[in-house]
Amino acid sequence: MYAINHAATALLIKKNNPKLPLFPLLVSVQLVEVFWVFFNYLGWEHFSISGGRVHLDFLPYSHSVFSGIAAAVLSFCVINWGYKNRKLALAFAIGVLSHVVIDVIFHEKDIQLSPFSAKPVLGLGILDYPILNFIIEFAYGIFCWWYFKGNKALLWVIIIFNIIDLPIMLAHGDALNPFVRYPFLLPSVILFQILITWYFVYRYAHSKDDKNESVMNEI
Ligand SMILES: [Zn+2]
Repeated sequence: MYAINHAATALLIKKNNPKLPLFPLLVSVQLVEVFWVFFNYLGWEHFSISGGRVHLDFLPYSHSVFSGIAAAVLSFCVINWGYKNRKLALAFAIGVLSHVVIDVIFHEKDIQLSPFSAKPVLGLGILDYPILNFIIEFAYGIFCWWYFKGNKALLWVIIIFNIIDLPIMLAHGDALNPFVRYPFLLPSVILFQILITWYFVYRYAHSKDDKNESVMNEI
């Protein structure tokens, strides 16, 4: 799943916990992906390109069922005992887990149960069908917006970022050559997407309408 729709998951969690700040929730749903970016920079994880497609060959440290659960439990402990905020700790842990669950649905078979066992590998492989992938992700993003009762600007953010993802989803063959030549490029593109979607979702989830509403409530 692409950055914008992972970010949209934070809207579901926020809606169920309206008092919690949105930013840490946006971080939680992408924590695993941020690890992936840095593990790729460090050479601990890697991807490959073959048959005109990107394959995430080796990502057991950032994306495995075990590491997802471990990251969720660790985050829960740090926020619960470090910051004394049990509600945020629980919501953050759910955010971290959501990433792995969603990736198992979308990835090809590349998600191990743990870093210690190469088999079995999980993944329903929706990413292998770019048009189907686009439709499901787009519908999911819109659903999160609808559930959150977001404003029009937030809807546009979700629509535009999904459409921007389309050429990347459809990219194949020679279009992928730069990623072969410069291996740091793909993690950098993903990191950039994570940061920019954090910014836009955060900005427009706090709409002018909300501010007006809270001013009205105060009056
Ligand atoms: Zn991921």
